[in-house]
Amino acid sequence: MRVILPQMSAARKLCAEPTVKDGPYRPSRYALRAPCEEGVLLYHTLTGELLLLSEDEDKGDEPGGSLRSELIKRRFLVPEDYDEYRLCRQIRQVAGTLAPKKKTVTSFTVFTTTDCNARCPYCYELGRPRTPMSDRTAADAAEYISRVSGGGKVSISWFGGEPLMGRSAIDVITSELRRRGVPFTSKIVTNGYLFDADLIGTAKNDWALRSVQITLDGTEEKYNRIKGIVGCEGSAYKRVLSNIGLLLDAGVRVAIRMNADLSNMEDLTKLTDELSARFGDEKKLTLYSVLLRDFSPAGTHPEAEAEALAAWDALQKKILASPIGGVRGLPRSIRTNGCMADNDGAVTILPDGRIGKCEHESEQLLVGNIYDGIADQGTVARWRERVEVPECRTCALAPVCIRLRLCSWTNDRCEDCDRERMKKSVEQMMLNEYVRSLKNGGGDIDTEEDGDNAEYSGFGR
Ligand code: SF4
Ligand code: SF4
Repeated sequence: MRVILPQMSAARKLCAEPTVKDGPYRPSRYALRAPCEEGVLLYHTLTGELLLLSEDEDKGDEPGGSLRSELIKRRFLVPEDYDEYRLCRQIRQVAGTLAPKKKTVTSFTVFTTTDCNARCPYCYELGRPRTPMSDRTAADAAEYISRVSGGGKVSISWFGGEPLMGRSAIDVITSELRRRGVPFTSKIVTNGYLFDADLIGTAKNDWALRSVQITLDGTEEKYNRIKGIVGCEGSAYKRVLSNIGLLLDAGVRVAIRMNADLSNMEDLTKLTDELSARFGDEKKLTLYSVLLRDFSPAGTHPEAEAEALAAWDALQKKILASPIGGVRGLPRSIRTNGCMADNDGAVTILPDGRIGKCEHESEQLLVGNIYDGIADQGTVARWRERVEVPECRTCALAPVCIRLRLCSWTNDRCEDCDRERMKKSVEQMMLNEYVRSLKNGGGDIDTEEDGDNAEYSGFGR
């Protein structure tokens, strides 16, 4: 047996080590398995421990029974009648109570405009008004950020629409924050088309831009057709790839997101090869994919879901093998919130100065504005409501799952396909940690415990 990831320190503190007894034991519900080259990986979703067992150990062929004792002490084996769900709820409740209460807001998602220069068919902003943030509102937004951040370091995510179409708002907010002495860094979710060398210099120095997320939906021909960039001269794909190179040269981290569905999986496999060949040596580049969610009858059909999941799993394994592949690591803290929407330290700011909690709900369920602050505590509380279904009681994912009732990525039920999707994501993370440990010489991975899991917005989204 090899420990790839030790138990999370919080889990170690909160769960006393069980005593080994003679009675019957069963595998823990929270132990997930994933085969790998050297045997099988076992991951405990409550304690965060990741083990590697050889094939013989997995079959129970080890002499002396010491492995059984180890697995009992580490909670991978539990007494037959043990109520793990009760323990899981207790641990999460205690972790929630102990989590420091956020008295300031330090994470801001700023919609610099809802306008966009692309016409992606899947965009949830389609049909919404295209409003830019005025310089006046941008200055007021900076004053709001300065007021509510309490002197702490601020993290801003520029969002839209296409946030670079609202460049003026970014210039105004960042120069105002500087003038007021507010420490900040920023990141951006953009299609990357509007960058050029000059703008990248400004972004790096004046906007304190540290990372960029760019979505690529396919190889050149497919990408250019899907994006439909307005006023594009030449190939938008070539320009975006060239901009990615410029950003990396400037030392800005780039994450390339590939939106996958059944129709483009093959093309994304080709794209993975292309990007690996072109950017394989880049340490600041990460490539990852997200399986798009479809709540239409066709999308939720179990066979369509299973097919999409199998194809996506194959794509993820290819990404994992790429030098720039970036499947996420396993969580290293007990989850106490789902995402920005139930995080008291995070808000969105819309182009007209209204404040919200979720980056995908830009027109509804807002909670205030930059002049009066958060005025609607009732809606804030609604954003914290969680979905719990009878299946949670026996679900392997219960320790790592927080579903918010208002989240537009999920619905109020939890189907088999939802659980399969999440399980697949966790298995991929397990394999990712295993690959990391091999690169590390096969020993434990030097893990940092998550300081704040606000960014950890669920699996497979
Ligand atoms: S995946 Fe579904 S059943 Fe499992 S814990 Fe989450 S909501 Fe409950
Ligand atoms: S995970 Fe759901 S609730 Fe949270 S920000 Fe994303 S869409 Fe909104």
